[in-house]
Amino acid sequence: AADKIDTIVSLSKRRGFVYPSSEIYGGQRAAWDYGPLGVEMKENLKRQWWRYMVTSREDVVGLDSSVILAPDVWVASGHVATFSDPLTECTSCHKRYRADHLEEAYEEKHGKPPVNGLADLNCPNCGNKGTFTEPKEFSGLLSTHLGPTQDSGSVAYLRPETAQGIFTNFGQVQQTSRKKPPFGIAQVGKSFRNEITPGNFIFRTREFEQMEMEFFVKPGEDEEWQQYWMDQRWNWYTDLGMREENMRWFEHPQEKLSHYSKRTADIEYRFRFGGSEWGELEGVANRTDYDLKAHSKASGTDLQYYDQEAGERWTPYVIEPAAGVGRAMLAFLLDAYIEDEAPNAKGVMEKRTVMRLDPRLAPVKVAVLPLSRNPQLSPKAKGLATDLRKNWNIEFDDAGAIGRRYRRQDEIGTPFCVTVDFDTLDDNAVTVRERDTMKQERVSLDQIQAYLGARLVG
Ligand code: ATP
Repeated sequence: AADKIDTIVSLSKRRGFVYPSSEIYGGQRAAWDYGPLGVEMKENLKRQWWRYMVTSREDVVGLDSSVILAPDVWVASGHVATFSDPLTECTSCHKRYRADHLEEAYEEKHGKPPVNGLADLNCPNCGNKGTFTEPKEFSGLLSTHLGPTQDSGSVAYLRPETAQGIFTNFGQVQQTSRKKPPFGIAQVGKSFRNEITPGNFIFRTREFEQMEMEFFVKPGEDEEWQQYWMDQRWNWYTDLGMREENMRWFEHPQEKLSHYSKRTADIEYRFRFGGSEWGELEGVANRTDYDLKAHSKASGTDLQYYDQEAGERWTPYVIEPAAGVGRAMLAFLLDAYIEDEAPNAKGVMEKRTVMRLDPRLAPVKVAVLPLSRNPQLSPKAKGLATDLRKNWNIEFDDAGAIGRRYRRQDEIGTPFCVTVDFDTLDDNAVTVRERDTMKQERVSLDQIQAYLGARLVG
């Protein structure tokens, strides 16, 4: 339900995953800052994506291109002309919306599109019906000026997708890495869009991070490769623990495809925002040879591939899986959040909150907890924490009752708590508690690295 989002928003703030940006100045709408736990989780997500998409494969290489490209790039790519959204305004309350989003929400609720378009819709803010203006196209490009003048000659765009930096470097990367299609170029980085209706926490922001890969294939092999990457991307989420019952595919109808696309399929997640159940997590698009051809033509640089064996020249087709880091993080947090029960100090069952994150995504891997704050236990536990920190992100906590400290770690998804108690001083062993089962095991200190290492892979 929608209140689960609220729970995640407040937990994120309270525990340091995500804070509202510029809060001491009253905030900046729809901008968010990632705190100590958030930045760890985000780095984990990006690392997992990079391993899966790049370093574990022989046919994909990486790139890190500029946010600001030559303005001509965005003219050639079609973004200056067509990267826009239909904006409508309610004439009673003056709230603005994306017309396509309003119609999609209606269709999701009623199972069919509104017959008379916007005229059939109630304003989500004031409730009035038929008060929307004719939609006007509104550019999604964020622009700025470079240098001392602010005239049209100094306009530059902040990239709305990382992909164009990959296309403009296609020839150089292909030659320097000596790859032949089918092969891919991947990039993770910030993108910017002048969204009309940012919101739903970190789901839609004007500044966000993308994880994109452009996979170049021989024309004619594109449909098979698109299916291949759709399967791969689905598996990436489920392998990291996302529940399939909260995921589905959405096929973009032909008439709504982006200007470059032959087919686009989105992985959607059941975000359960008030008003709509499902939201896009990532898109897998067949961008055809549109971009490479457009840049060849506009730049005068031939971006075809010369197939030496066949003695042919052709422009590769491109399959693009494009994901958002923030959206993935939100989906994994929602998916992992559960409430169950655990016994308190007196053995009575009490509610506990657990973030059942895959250990690879968990921001803190191990918490080291001396049973109590004590001149003998604390130094021993601190020494252990220092050792473990060579390999993992560790928290050390000796404040308050042990039960409460377990709860704090459960709530942020820490897979293991290691307790140093008075027996440790005699037997040189510690108690390891596993987050989900709450099972405890005694492990000797000379085995602890190996024990955790076997359970914290990746
Ligand atoms: P939407 O329809 O939700 O606006 P889109 O189809 O325009 O998304 P793409 O252009 O396919 O999105 O971008 C690829 C991915 O980048 C999206 O699936 C999403 O995860 C992420 N993304 C796009 N726009 C935003 C945004 N404004 N805020 C956060 N993430 C975004």
